[in-house]
Amino acid sequence: MEEYILISTLNDFIFCPYSIYLHNVYKGGEEDLVYAVPQVQGKASHEAIDEKKYSSRKDEITGLSIYSNELGIMGKMDLYKGKEKQLIERKYQLNTIYQGQIYQLWGQYFCMKEMGYEIDKLAFYAISTNKTFPIDIPTEANKDELQNFIKRFKQYDPTQPLQVNSNKCTHCIYCNLCDKIETENVY
Ligand code: SF4
Repeated sequence: MEEYILISTLNDFIFCPYSIYLHNVYKGGEEDLVYAVPQVQGKASHEAIDEKKYSSRKDEITGLSIYSNELGIMGKMDLYKGKEKQLIERKYQLNTIYQGQIYQLWGQYFCMKEMGYEIDKLAFYAISTNKTFPIDIPTEANKDELQNFIKRFKQYDPTQPLQVNSNKCTHCIYCNLCDKIETENVY
């Protein structure tokens, strides 16, 4: 049986493939030891969604498990507003939207389309600033781009040498756990 890739790991892979290894090694550990501050804040905001505390509107769906057979990915969406046909990904803080985060949202979009949901609008929502950032609906070319990225993910060889970028590492949530560098993260 073909293995499905978790949508949440696409962003980690773009940031640093080694972080996926660390994520898998340390998941389930003591929260204070394992998570850096941004991750704890993000986790808390997602728990509100997972526990369905966010909204009582009947046309809204939160924390739905989603998958795409075509792309071979699976995960959870954050918030779907049925009336507006809008899919939203909430982040605690959002100063810059990175390509990996856009791939995550595209992945959620294609999963939900394949599952039969109508989606006309996509957006990120920053909890800390109460700001919404609309994102274009992905085109067929965008879908090809995402498929190529997923192919690279599947073909990644973890034994190949790792290009360490110390500037990036100090902002990495796994910095204090990573054996590739000796500095501490900035959080
Ligand atoms: S600390 Fe650096 S090398 Fe280690 S996982 Fe993070 S980005 Fe990758």
